[in-house]
Amino acid sequence: MQKQPRTDDATNRRLWRLVGPVVVGGAGAAIWALWHIADHSRLAGAMAVLTIVLIGNGFAIVEVRIRSTSTLITPTTAVLTVAAVFLPPPPVILGTACGTFLHLLAQRRTDPVKISFNVAKETIGATAAVFAVAAIGQVPILLNPGFSIPGVIPGAFAALVAYALVDEIVSHALFAIVTHTSFRQRLLAQRDVRVITRLGLFAVALATVAAYRISEWLLLVLPPLVYAIHLAAANQMRTRQGNEAWQRLAEATDEFNSVDQTAVLYAAVRRAADIFSTDEAEVEIHPPNGGARLVRSDGTRILFDGSPGDAPTAEGFLIPIALESYRGDADLGELRLRFRGAGPVRFTEREQYTLRTFTAALCTAIRNAATFAETQRLADSHARAAAQDPLTRLANRRRLQQYGDEILAAGSGVGVVGVLLIDLNHFKEVNDTLGHAEGDRVLIAVAERLAEAARPGDLVARFGGDEFAVVLAGLSAPALAELHAHAMLDALAPPIELDDMRISVEASCGVTTGSGGTVGELLRRSDVALYQAKQEGQRVVVYARARDTADIGSLTLGGDLARAVAEQQFTVHFQPIVDLAGGRVIAAEALTRWHHPDRGHLGPDRFLGAIERSGQLAAFADAVLDQALIAVTQWGDAGYPVPVAVNVSPRSLLDPSFPDAVARRLAARGVPSSSLVIELTESVTMSKLEVVDEVLAALREQGVRLALDDFGTGFSSLATLARVPVDELKIDRSFVAAMNASAPGAVVRSTIDLGRSLDLLIVAEGVEREDQRQQLWELGCPAGQGHLFARAMPADRLLAALQRGDGRLADPLHDTGSVIRMSRSRRARRMSMGGEPPGREKST
Ligand code: C2E
Ligand code: CA
Ligand code: CA
Repeated sequence: MQKQPRTDDATNRRLWRLVGPVVVGGAGAAIWALWHIADHSRLAGAMAVLTIVLIGNGFAIVEVRIRSTSTLITPTTAVLTVAAVFLPPPPVILGTACGTFLHLLAQRRTDPVKISFNVAKETIGATAAVFAVAAIGQVPILLNPGFSIPGVIPGAFAALVAYALVDEIVSHALFAIVTHTSFRQRLLAQRDVRVITRLGLFAVALATVAAYRISEWLLLVLPPLVYAIHLAAANQMRTRQGNEAWQRLAEATDEFNSVDQTAVLYAAVRRAADIFSTDEAEVEIHPPNGGARLVRSDGTRILFDGSPGDAPTAEGFLIPIALESYRGDADLGELRLRFRGAGPVRFTEREQYTLRTFTAALCTAIRNAATFAETQRLADSHARAAAQDPLTRLANRRRLQQYGDEILAAGSGVGVVGVLLIDLNHFKEVNDTLGHAEGDRVLIAVAERLAEAARPGDLVARFGGDEFAVVLAGLSAPALAELHAHAMLDALAPPIELDDMRISVEASCGVTTGSGGTVGELLRRSDVALYQAKQEGQRVVVYARARDTADIGSLTLGGDLARAVAEQQFTVHFQPIVDLAGGRVIAAEALTRWHHPDRGHLGPDRFLGAIERSGQLAAFADAVLDQALIAVTQWGDAGYPVPVAVNVSPRSLLDPSFPDAVARRLAARGVPSSSLVIELTESVTMSKLEVVDEVLAALREQGVRLALDDFGTGFSSLATLARVPVDELKIDRSFVAAMNASAPGAVVRSTIDLGRSLDLLIVAEGVEREDQRQQLWELGCPAGQGHLFARAMPADRLLAALQRGDGRLADPLHDTGSVIRMSRSRRARRMSMGGEPPGREKST
């Protein structure tokens, strides 16, 4: 990528103000010398020698690049000092002009301005040197065979000083203009090395004179000697530059140690311009989720920061470097070094190495900053997702429960608390006939009306779908709740206008009141009432305990539960967790069921609360753990070492003896602690209670793995992660279900990224469809669990499934994308009924 160089006008004018006089001066000196050369025809041979030496001299050149301009360090000082003491002015001046010109041609330089300038500069230097000798009245050696070495020293020194002055002044003036730096600064840079180099070359010049005094033939040793001194000096210069570059590189990488993207990018462009001596440096990044950004600097100021499309065009010779991750799999953007002068600019090997190191450090810094920004964004989106329903912006279930629990905890002082559960009738038909977009508009309208009908202090929430809930705070009498329920439904009565349509919305409502307990229980009761309302076609039904068949609270808890635990009415089912890509079972989660003698099959949501309150929790948890470990042993014996994940109640973590109980169980069943995963919810891990920290630390110390359950639904998932060092994250199934909506999708994506960057195993819950599996896997989620693979089942049935699929429950993703779900007997039945061929049931 090479662009036409265009030096800006001011620089151009300044350049010409220097180049013009130098070229005129050089030409003047050459014309004068030409005029007088005839007087020295005897010295033509010596002049030829000077010319040839100057051509060869160029091959001892060391090139030092400053921005786009290279400065050449040559042994010319020695050559011209010798020439000035050996020869009179005209041959020295002409020999220098010719030698320099021919050397540049030999180097294939073509720019006429540069050639004239360099020839003129050397010619002026030689003129100054040779006239300095003449000025102190010293006769040229070739015209004075009886010369003495001490007699030559003053002239030689005068020549050296005169040439060096011209050389330094003109060269540095040029660099100062080209690099926009101060002339003084240029002149002072590395001056010690330069003075020493010149003095060394002066010594070489004197040695040459001395050698000539002994024998002309000794002059043959001059070139190697000059060359050696020259190389030593050049080396030192390079080493120094190298050290300085490393120093600055170290400083730059220090500055990269920031999580703020702006700080990183600013440091990068400033440092790059400085370290690589460029006119400008810029970084363009294009993050995957948009927001491309370009930052440009000239080494001191930031010239531009914004969208790449808005950046003013900059011209010059450009070196682009791709910013890639070390594996080369992620393209972060580009670093560009720009040189204003004529290109091309070639980097030395050291510079290239420095550049690679710089770029690698920059890539890491950009990634770190991006990860940090993502983490922050994630924290925000979690906080929002944790409290708000994305569609209607009402509170969500979590928020409502938290709010309800708060006011219930505040006690009787706040009066009676009412909980309304409102469900729209026939909403499914609206969705089916008008489409989801219109359905969403109806929900939004309903939300607005409910919010308007609520009193200050009430909280309206949407639970998902067409279900809404209201917490009524501070009722003076329970009966008021029913009145409010009617008022709420009345607010929904006027038809909702959608474009040209008017839609009537009807709803049913279940009502409960209470002044203690938990909102969870009040909600459950409202749910019972709502169910009855729907069944009976009523608008509003108030909860009546007598009609509640599932009211565990009405059981004689102590006795019932104690007996249940003792009689092992609780059974533990296991839901496999599979590796999404390969379909192998990598673990199984223990989920408890209660076969109640009178009430039949009860799910954990029905009895967990009662157990926690009953004083039977430790015995219950121990029984569940024991069954889980028995299952692990059973699977292990059959050749399937599948670890088991056990849910623990928040309250178990408040029990300091819990880790010991776990350890005893593991020992009793001879199961290694690494085969046990304990699933925690955030509620208690966030409590900052010391005992919880101690219990978790003790579990980890035993080697038990910890998983954070329902990740994303808590109030501060990230804060939990920072406090509790877990090994796994389980993405809550509500996010997986809504993965294609933008907010939940973002939570899924960022949770996966976060988990990967923290090196945690991510398990997606509630994977019900093949497309979800595929999508999750593509996002980088390695594991999942859900009905797509299997429901929870008894341990022996899971073993049978493992044996059937040899450890697999689904085909590998890249194969057919299908899932083995039918048991043998079902398959056989279907076959005999003339159904699909045996084997796989396509799920998509
Ligand atoms: P969880 O830990 O989030 O467990 C996953 C729940 O999601 C289970 O419900 C499971 O049957 C269900 N599930 C699994 N795959 C799918 C799917 O693809 N789609 C849908 N819609 N649901 C799916 P379950 O068994 O009713 O358990 C409910 C909760 O009860 C569990 O949620 C867990 O927090 C708790 N729990 C279950 N067993 C125990 C236990 O022994 N001790 C404690 N403390 N809590 C338990
Ligand atoms: Ca769980
Ligand atoms: Ca869960």
